[in-house]
Amino acid sequence: MSEDEVTYCSFHPDVETRLRCSKCGKPICPKCAVQTPVGFRCPDCVRVQQAVFYTATPLDYAIATVVGLLISTIAAFIMGRLGIFLALILGPVAGGVIAEVVRWAIRRHRGRWIWLVVSGCIVVGALVAALYPLLLLLFAPQPVAYLPMLFRLDLIIYVALAVGTAYARLR
Ligand SMILES: [Zn+2]
Ligand SMILES: [Zn+2]
Repeated sequence: MSEDEVTYCSFHPDVETRLRCSKCGKPICPKCAVQTPVGFRCPDCVRVQQAVFYTATPLDYAIATVVGLLISTIAAFIMGRLGIFLALILGPVAGGVIAEVVRWAIRRHRGRWIWLVVSGCIVVGALVAALYPLLLLLFAPQPVAYLPMLFRLDLIIYVALAVGTAYARLR
């Protein structure tokens, strides 16, 4: 088959094209071609590739949630004692550690939404660490004096940096 032979897109039969899927060789037009590191692919091959790429099962998501919540809560309690300056430095480190531990726990399976689960765990862990002093309010003689404890800039900074790192590692 010569390069110059006119073919029509497999998905748009009225569109002339010379482009072909680098995997199955089907003619595709620029509109439906998907650029990948190994060349242009047709939508069918991209779908198959993604199905293989994402290997996480519902059990993996459950494990990611439990392990993520546990380590995120521990991390938030530690970060909550270090102050804003260390939160800036160690926030990304903590996010990276959380991401790697979860990845190890789900045996390096990949999931489209694992990053979202882990990000949610980081937020919940920080909320637990921030709201835990609320227990003091129940017993405090002057509850209002404890309200500033709820505004935790250090934990907000930590969450932003940790979520950013976890997203970058897991997406
Ligand atoms: Zn193809
Ligand atoms: Zn097309």
